[in-house]
Amino acid sequence: MNEINKNIPLLSVNDLTVEFPMPAGTLRAVSALSYDVYPGEVMGIVGESGSGKSVAASSVMHLLQKPGRVTEGSITFDGRDVLSMTKKELNDFRGKEISMIFQDPMQCLDPSFTVGSQLMETVRAHEKVAKAEARGRCVDVLASVGIKDPESMMKKYPFELSGGMRQRVMIAIALLCRPKLLIADEPTTALDVTIQEQIMLLLKKACSENEMAMVFITHNFGLVADICDRVTVMYGGRVMEQGSCDDIFYSTAHPYTCGLMQAIPKADLLSEERLTSIEGTPLDPMAPPAGCPFAPRCNKAMDICHRECPELREIAKGHRARCWLCEDDAEVSIHG
Ligand code: SF4
Repeated sequence: MNEINKNIPLLSVNDLTVEFPMPAGTLRAVSALSYDVYPGEVMGIVGESGSGKSVAASSVMHLLQKPGRVTEGSITFDGRDVLSMTKKELNDFRGKEISMIFQDPMQCLDPSFTVGSQLMETVRAHEKVAKAEARGRCVDVLASVGIKDPESMMKKYPFELSGGMRQRVMIAIALLCRPKLLIADEPTTALDVTIQEQIMLLLKKACSENEMAMVFITHNFGLVADICDRVTVMYGGRVMEQGSCDDIFYSTAHPYTCGLMQAIPKADLLSEERLTSIEGTPLDPMAPPAGCPFAPRCNKAMDICHRECPELREIAKGHRARCWLCEDDAEVSIHG
């Protein structure tokens, strides 16, 4: 493993804006998103469906679905500008430096090839290694993700596996080339509670053993506390609150974050129950409100909230929030 500098961000997303030109107008899915991920750190990106979290993650991998495009901002990985990489550079970058796992493993597994051939192809696409060495590496990585009989798993087809086993295989593929960063997009949402717990433990172990950083995307705040060092809360394509896990859980500043936290199932934080308890429906990105995007659902909304969107402001060291309630001159603004 190369020497890593924990003081320099591995991934820097700066003022990222992603738009989808549509016949009815332009859909702005992500607006001025900024965050850093340091080596070995886990950044949670949390929000309901449509908050822009998955679109932002796809941009980092340069995997935006058409007609989506980055219209502003930059993405820097290990000092390199991701948005200006050539096709060849991107092929080397994906899988080797950064990997992604999805909610549905079949998004990256090919049903017509065995697990072994898909693993072997991944290793040999990125590294010049002999067949026997590549095979040994594949068996080892399958064992490392808790597959008890990796030799027989190499011969299986994805359709022969349970959802939990497919997810383990996808994680194995993602870890094969020892990436510096893993993007995990709702990796446990489709799994039952027991398997969710096992996959979460597996991801934690993979990060600590490989000194790997992770961007963990979820709608479930209960999982955030379990694994993340820092958290970015998104709504309507914008950052609503950002800070350390302690900032977010113990000094919560934003009404939307409060709503997400109240939706954590109380009896079992790993329950598969979805977030449904914030009243109202998520924002329509084709028709965002004039002021704060959360205003139509916020029980603390004031007049100014419907007119002007607040800036994302630092309220304590490393803790930022976008809410008029966090403004020093809130009283003036409210009545101004
Ligand atoms: Fe609620 Fe206003 Fe804060 Fe938006 S700015 S979250 S509407 S109080």
